[in-house]
Amino acid sequence: MKKTVGLLSVIIMLGMTGYSLFYSAPSETSAKKTTATTYSFEKKSTKKNAVQKALPTASAENWNLVLVGPKNKIEKEVDESQLATLSDNSHQVDKRIASDYEAFSEAATKAGFPLVIVSAFRSVESQKEVFDTNVNGIISGNGVSEADAIAKTKETITEPGFSEHHTGLAVDIVDQDWYNSYSTQVLDASYGDQPGAKWIAENAPKYGFIIRYPKDRQDITGITYEPWHIRYVGKENAEYITKNDLTLEEFLKQLSAK
Ligand SMILES: [Zn+2]
Repeated sequence: MKKTVGLLSVIIMLGMTGYSLFYSAPSETSAKKTTATTYSFEKKSTKKNAVQKALPTASAENWNLVLVGPKNKIEKEVDESQLATLSDNSHQVDKRIASDYEAFSEAATKAGFPLVIVSAFRSVESQKEVFDTNVNGIISGNGVSEADAIAKTKETITEPGFSEHHTGLAVDIVDQDWYNSYSTQVLDASYGDQPGAKWIAENAPKYGFIIRYPKDRQDITGITYEPWHIRYVGKENAEYITKNDLTLEEFLKQLSAK
């Protein structure tokens, strides 16, 4: 049990500390600075072309658009009866998304990128166990106060109640090749450069999933780039969000402003 908790704790820790040092967008060359006006015009028109579809008719109140994160505590815990176990016989998700996930997984296998699930649904209680174990470890190891130990723990482990994994709509996946060959951490931002991760990013929306924590959007999502964390929002919403290069937070804002 201790081992399991330890592993889970590492996974959660990784989820919160993924580095976004890789792949910063290529900066404009100095040669282009002389044509700054042209460049900004081009950029604008490219952006306009990207907006291909009208805003979906979804409501921000839909079950598949629930917002849980560092600033949004889960309001109501998912009932056990609302969960389904996936075909790996190990991980659980909200049963309403199970068939879409399985279809996505089958497509990935066909494309040569069989998926490995690292984490899916996590209860608030299991998150609390991981969190408290870490707090107690810090207190006994360093003799610091409980408040300091909690603050320190929050830096690396999601506070119980604030993880999107509580919703049953989030899954952490990598492809088998990466799983067999990663050098340091299975959940690492550098995974984003792998062919499997690129396939995931491109194809997940067709099955209703988005890359929930894109690169360089930490200011909006509160979480650094996580190429492995996909979130179900429904097919139409996922395609719209992806084509328009949005985060879930920005999409919800658009819906509310309708
Ligand atoms: Zn995750």
